Amino acid sequence: MTTELCGPTQRLPSLAEVLFEAFETHGARVCLRLPSGAVWHYHEMHRLARGIGAELLRRGASPGDRILVQLDKTPEAVCIYLGCLYAGLIYVPLNSAYTESELRDFVQDADPALVIRDARCRLPPEVACLLREELVAAGRSGVGLPRPRGGAAEDPAALLYTSGTTGRAKGALLSNRNLVSNAQGLRSVWDWQDEDVLLHGLPIYHVHGLFVALHCAFFSGSEVRFLPRFTVADVISALPVSSVVMGVPTHYSRLLEAEAFHFEACRGLRLLISGSAPMVPRLHALVEERTGHRVVERYGLTEGMILTSNPIEGAWVPGTVGFALPGVALRVAENEGADARAKVRIGEVEASGPGIFAGYFRNAQATAKAMTGDGFLRTGDLGSLDAQGRLTISGRSRDLIISGGLNVYPKEIEMLIDEMPQVHESAVIGVPHPDFGEAVVAVVCGARELSLEQLREFLGARLARFKLPKKLVRLDDLPRNQMGKVQKAGLREQYRCLFASRGGSAV
Ligand code: AMP
Repeated sequence: MTTELCGPTQRLPSLAEVLFEAFETHGARVCLRLPSGAVWHYHEMHRLARGIGAELLRRGASPGDRILVQLDKTPEAVCIYLGCLYAGLIYVPLNSAYTESELRDFVQDADPALVIRDARCRLPPEVACLLREELVAAGRSGVGLPRPRGGAAEDPAALLYTSGTTGRAKGALLSNRNLVSNAQGLRSVWDWQDEDVLLHGLPIYHVHGLFVALHCAFFSGSEVRFLPRFTVADVISALPVSSVVMGVPTHYSRLLEAEAFHFEACRGLRLLISGSAPMVPRLHALVEERTGHRVVERYGLTEGMILTSNPIEGAWVPGTVGFALPGVALRVAENEGADARAKVRIGEVEASGPGIFAGYFRNAQATAKAMTGDGFLRTGDLGSLDAQGRLTISGRSRDLIISGGLNVYPKEIEMLIDEMPQVHESAVIGVPHPDFGEAVVAVVCGARELSLEQLREFLGARLARFKLPKKLVRLDDLPRNQMGKVQKAGLREQYRCLFASRGGSAV
């Protein structure tokens, strides 16, 4: 299934050129508005970004060098991002939660010309480490870059670390083409308007908050309600003055806990968008019931940018992630262990298009493994396509459970468990089993009285025997990362010995 936008030969401006022009054109407009009331106009951001770009070059960085940053979410951090782009440097953002020893690993891998941080770091003397305040002060006082460094479409603009399709974090190189075309595709699918006001509570070290959200707004000089971090109170107070919200499913479930998240508060909204982790149909229904808005779910990954989105109007099916974005081709690979009797064919989702990354940094072997022979990205996600081309994600392929030689797709079971009264959420994992190879284990939050027998009875009427959980584990909350992704690897590790020893908290 493919939809067309720009052919691979079409000349695209570099990301820096697009943003430089947008910031010049919309100088008088509000760019970022903070909960404190502080306001940054486009011309202020632009001026500082140009100054920072010039300062980085003065300090010896040259186009194509990596600049590694580990910064809190502030307007200045956004200016540093823009400054790197304007100077033709490759921006490498890191989660601010990483410890100094993790930082060292990334420094070793990214081999940056400079590291910029909020706090001074202890790194080997050959790695230059610069404090944010110092860079910003120099950027404010010096002469700024008169124009952006152009860059070819295939030149990398950013390097983002992701654990991607295998366990260890790898640096995904994202080119000008990846970033510009994806922003253009999303703006067209979501019918982005200059007057839109974006409510932004996402971190800015990840594709979602940095590229998807900020580029949609910055390309047309739209205002961003810039929350230093997601808090329900800040979101609720910004809702009435926003038109588009972008979040992860956990944001929406936290908002539902607040009475003030209601129809009136959301009256001015045009679009609620969710991604980065699956949004279960029940959460979709609760948000719609409370606010009158359907959440538009989109799907993607660092290595492929955003690949699909539900349409903002019309054929919208909760639990699916919609249709391929302009220029994206999707297909589902043959899956050897699949159940031949199944109504839908589930396999690894493969994608091609202008957003597919340029490869892992200095890791040709991992890049080759991530791509098929004919240039499609292996997403590492399992999914199915319906006759109209609508994609449904069934989970990560590494979360697939093979029990007694048969494939069990966790999402199918999770969706049924979540239908049970009092269940808040669930995760289904496979753990080693002496007889079956792997056994299905259900981790359930809520429903304190639920027993394994009741669970199996409920599921038994709906699922084949081999899919029924052999153990039930109760937790208050599922472990998630900041992007709302359930950390199944951690759960598998925690319950690895469930069938080796007979004890534990499972029933
Ligand atoms: P990242 O590279 O950190 O953006 O993570 C990408 C992964 O997040 C994908 O490979 C999917 O497993 C998951 N993901 C993103 N969006 C969705 C979605 N709407 N539904 C289900 N999984 C998603």
